[in-house]
Amino acid sequence: MIYREFKDIKLSMLGLGTMRLPLLDGDNSKIDEKATAEMVDYAMEHGVNYYDTAWGYHEGNSETVMGKVLSAHPRDSFYLASKFPGYDLENFKRIEEIFEKQLEKCGVDYFDFYLFHSVTEENIHGYLNREYGLLDYLLKQKENGRIRHLGFSAHADCNVMRRFLEAYGEHIEFCQLQINYLDWTYQKAKEKVELLEEYDIPVWVMEPLRGGKLAELSVEAEKELSELRPDENIPAWAFRFLQTIPNVKMILSGMSNFTQLKENVATFEEDKPLSEEELKVILKIADGMMGRMLPCTACRYCITHCPKELDIPRLLGIYNNNQFSGVGNIQPAVLKNVEKEKWPSKCIACRSCEKVCPQGIKISEAMADFTEKLEK
Ligand code: SF4
Ligand code: SF4
Repeated sequence: MIYREFKDIKLSMLGLGTMRLPLLDGDNSKIDEKATAEMVDYAMEHGVNYYDTAWGYHEGNSETVMGKVLSAHPRDSFYLASKFPGYDLENFKRIEEIFEKQLEKCGVDYFDFYLFHSVTEENIHGYLNREYGLLDYLLKQKENGRIRHLGFSAHADCNVMRRFLEAYGEHIEFCQLQINYLDWTYQKAKEKVELLEEYDIPVWVMEPLRGGKLAELSVEAEKELSELRPDENIPAWAFRFLQTIPNVKMILSGMSNFTQLKENVATFEEDKPLSEEELKVILKIADGMMGRMLPCTACRYCITHCPKELDIPRLLGIYNNNQFSGVGNIQPAVLKNVEKEKWPSKCIACRSCEKVCPQGIKISEAMADFTEKLEK
């Protein structure tokens, strides 16, 4: 396992993200605890020492399951991260209640890492409103040893990140960002990394495979890459890209099964950053992909906001597959496993999902286009 130094500790460069744990019956709220425990045991045995959960993951059950599963291991053998869900303004009324509950759910008496979760254009006013008292509360917990390191995660543009850093930067020790070779230019990840360098803040990476989108590429792209590195699998290219960025200390991958975990652990046995030439090739491939796809990462933040209860990321995934192939019409057969009441045509364009989408996707327009292409 590759390690990176952060202050006086060594972090495995691969961390286990727990937003996409193995499920029972395909139900996002029902985590397969046994499969999760097996994965965590394997990860621990192979040197992974960082585990990232959050209040909202798996409809509130990620923290509970991770608490149970990690309790089989000595507390000082892993670093645990969780986050304050300030993306929902209502939660600012319950700061203490939520924090205490998080410790209880995770079965710990301190968090090694704690983050302001998902700072965006839409919610920064809440995070920066000192009257809510979140920063003061978290600093107090730090003083009391219940938070070891304070950071934030962001799905915001550079201006918003700068606003956050100008207000709170002196207290911030790390920042979790969506970085991968697709977003390097598309979501200006490069500029965000440079901004953090200005503040001397190390980078934690989320969505390294962009919700799995970078695990498979077009036939031509895969051929081009395998000519450069015949022994490297396609997901590994995303990790090698991130190993090339000097300020990246942590790469979180939301692994859903044992196979993914084993592959990722094997990739992180070696530090093999990309050469200049390889970097050019991967960014050229990204350029070609971006033009055709919606940037959904399957974070599922939108799900609970849809009055029609559409499985938005699933529908966008199907839509993206069609865009990716470049075919104009969409065969209704692609929706054979989706009940008719949950088809894109049921979207009423209320746009409440769009208010919470960190990727800024015009979901209602995509649903309309999907419907039109189905009807053709
Ligand atoms: S715009 Fe469509 S998909 Fe989005 S919340 Fe409204 S009905 Fe659901
Ligand atoms: S549409 Fe946006 S909020 Fe919904 S899952 Fe995709 S990225 Fe997340």
